[in-house]
Amino acid sequence: MQQPPWKGIAEGRSAEDTGSGTTPEGPRRAPAGARRHRLLRAAALGSAAAVVLAVTASASTGRLLADTASASGPVSQGRSGAHGPCMISGELGVQMSEGIPTGPGYARSTGTVRALNLMVDFSDAPGEGSALDRLGEFFPQTTDWFRTSSYGRLDYRPEVPVPDWLRMPKPFKEYGIERGAPFDPGYRELVEDIVAAADPDVDFRAYDLVNVLITPNAGPSALDTVLSVTFAGNHEAPVADGVPVANASFVYSRQDDGSGSYDRTGYRVLPHENGHVFGLPDLYTRDGGGAVGHWDIMSEDWGANNDLLGWHKWKLGWIDDAQVDCAPARGTTEHLLTPLATRGGTKLVFVPTGARTGYAVELRTRAGNDEAVCRAGVLVYRVDAGVDTGQGPVTVTDATRDSGGCTRSPNVHAELSDAPFALGETFVDRGRGVRIKVAGVDLDGNYRVHITRAGKA
Ligand SMILES: [Zn+2]
Repeated sequence: MQQPPWKGIAEGRSAEDTGSGTTPEGPRRAPAGARRHRLLRAAALGSAAAVVLAVTASASTGRLLADTASASGPVSQGRSGAHGPCMISGELGVQMSEGIPTGPGYARSTGTVRALNLMVDFSDAPGEGSALDRLGEFFPQTTDWFRTSSYGRLDYRPEVPVPDWLRMPKPFKEYGIERGAPFDPGYRELVEDIVAAADPDVDFRAYDLVNVLITPNAGPSALDTVLSVTFAGNHEAPVADGVPVANASFVYSRQDDGSGSYDRTGYRVLPHENGHVFGLPDLYTRDGGGAVGHWDIMSEDWGANNDLLGWHKWKLGWIDDAQVDCAPARGTTEHLLTPLATRGGTKLVFVPTGARTGYAVELRTRAGNDEAVCRAGVLVYRVDAGVDTGQGPVTVTDATRDSGGCTRSPNVHAELSDAPFALGETFVDRGRGVRIKVAGVDLDGNYRVHITRAGKA
């Protein structure tokens, strides 16, 4: 049977795990016990075949480009030529890339974005409590998170035209959305049934994205398996009111680690899933959060609140070109970084090292959405737009390797918690001829950084 060509971002799986009949493998960044559980499963899976996602991307892209190029990504901001070398891009075959600009088909990430919220239950998993209680697990926190992270550039409007549970016509288990079942056909059927149930009360043309908030008693606990998933940029999706349900996030279970923080932090699965809708890849890998730690919600969305990397904010249009210094040239340049969490000023220095790669440099402090930062300073990370979602497109450099980290916050990757470079410290990549020195701190808490590039310009 032909697979529907969906671009699915299946949580906890990498593209090669995704195939007809393979197992949707376990949780991402889950608490310690569950993570061990997942690693065992990952090892057991081995190289479980299938190329569904890769195939789909190429099969559908040509037509999508013409249809949707103007609608996705940040509202146009007239990028300047000076940033050309820093606008690294991926290549064909990368499903979801760190490249700038973001490819076509995703929801726009600036201005007013209308999010349709549908609460869904089943006869074998009837909603417990009201549908609006389920909504209340995610709002207004998600709206506030986006406002804070975007410096007000994303005006996220959650809308609820149907304030009750939408009962699906089949029991949950019959959709086959569980480990060991084919993945996409079940989702397609579920989306079609959701559309049919909501259509009398919903004009799907009015929304930029869809959040499907599944009753938490359907399926396994998120401590065991994270089923939450997003279909992003998918114009082969079922059609409603003449438009494909192209950008839809599904949230299952509750990301409750038992630490007592669920009410405050449990909503963060939704901004993570919506990050995919806006074109952001997963930064955790099958080994967990060791590549980026807690420095981006696309890496870790359990535990204490966190923000996005500056690179992602540039990609989304939340910081503009004037706030990004591009450093392609030989010699030494000086840059003044303001804290990423505060409004205004230079937020990012990018040092391109190729057409697809470079180092990003930013100042992280405990402020805004970044509540778990225990060592403020200059974060240096490598971005590779040629590496796909879930395969490690971003790697944070740890200024204090093997220190064990400085955090005691649960579900925060500890080793990388003290990754930033402090005053006087220098990042060095001899092979690529890049040195990044933290040269000074001013009275306002801004950091002076010296970038030195040797070799070929
Ligand atoms: Zn994800």
